[in-house]
Amino acid sequence: MTSSKAELRPQPRPGILDIAAYVPGKSGAKGRKVHKLSSNESPLGASPAAVAAFRDAAGKLELYPDGSAVALREAIAARYGLNPDAIVCGAGSDELLQLIAHAYLGPGDEAIYSEFGFLVYPIAIKSNGATAVVAPERNHTADVDAILARVTPRTRIVFLANPNNPTGTHLPFSEVKRLHAGLPRDVLLVLDAAYAEYVRRNDYESGIELVSTSNNVIMTRTFSKIHGLAALRLGWAYCPLHVADVLNRIRGPFNVSAPALAAGTAAIADQGFVEQAIAHNEQWLPWLTRELEALGLKVTPSVGNFLLVHFPQDAKRNAAAADADLAEQGFVLRRMDAYGIPGALRLTVGSEEANRGVVAALKAFLA
Ligand SMILES: *Cc1c(COP(=O)(O)O)cnc(C)c1O
Repeated sequence: MTSSKAELRPQPRPGILDIAAYVPGKSGAKGRKVHKLSSNESPLGASPAAVAAFRDAAGKLELYPDGSAVALREAIAARYGLNPDAIVCGAGSDELLQLIAHAYLGPGDEAIYSEFGFLVYPIAIKSNGATAVVAPERNHTADVDAILARVTPRTRIVFLANPNNPTGTHLPFSEVKRLHAGLPRDVLLVLDAAYAEYVRRNDYESGIELVSTSNNVIMTRTFSKIHGLAALRLGWAYCPLHVADVLNRIRGPFNVSAPALAAGTAAIADQGFVEQAIAHNEQWLPWLTRELEALGLKVTPSVGNFLLVHFPQDAKRNAAAADADLAEQGFVLRRMDAYGIPGALRLTVGSEEANRGVVAALKAFLA
């Protein structure tokens, strides 16, 4: 290889330049009323108690946060009946997913995620020089047999979002247990339960039981969705003690900010507010599903706070055309091209006004 002096420059480690950067949901044009339904944010905002705790934190910004997040871990532990030592907090569950990948993956290793799985997984895998292995799905749902068929002696982690974003589908606990039972004991199973609170199914379990009874399962949770604290970047992982020890060694000593710790501790205690958010979703998720189907659109059945909506193929009514038209009407949805589902848009369950409005806007678009 010939390399002139001008070309000589620092190079990132192998794998980094193969990563497609994560593209967040659009926020919409400035200066007009826009309903942002592109990032699965809560239409109810945050608990007033969490907002008050956040404001209080403004009086102490010169102080470092509690690096071990004791109050928050104890609040989470009390809420779910867990050992606080088995909880690690992070700047969003994204940070925790990255820390897990960083601790357990390197060049030559493989990690598996499913076809329409959350796009943070391949970023976390590849940024550590490991190989991302994709398991095909069936009906936009993770396929346990396809995942198990891709396990090799190099496999170190399986990432599974349950429910999954962007499809909204879930695996029953029996299937998650079957997946776990089929994995070698030195392979980590990471259950990303970002939408656990929304699920109203008897066959669902977020993963707490599996973490408690095994040595190779981690469950991640977030304050970004049901708690409405996405701006603060706060998540937690429940893990075996040996994994908590590893993550605590490599995380930043003050990885969670003091306002986030304060707001999260207040939010987890305000169960009444969480119940309101659940009730809102329980009302509007089925309503949106029915209304969109009545417009002739195909909707993947969802257990989360969002829906995957499939559009016709023709150029006038396809997903790209719908996205552009809805944006004009003040509704921002999420394009799914990056996920390999270019024919669909993802729609977050919004406020009553946003939900009624987006259905009316789609009706006008399809007319
Ligand atoms: C939104 C989301 C998260 C949450 O990420 P944060 O970093 O905690 O905001 C995690 N996993 C999935 C699948 C998500 O959709």
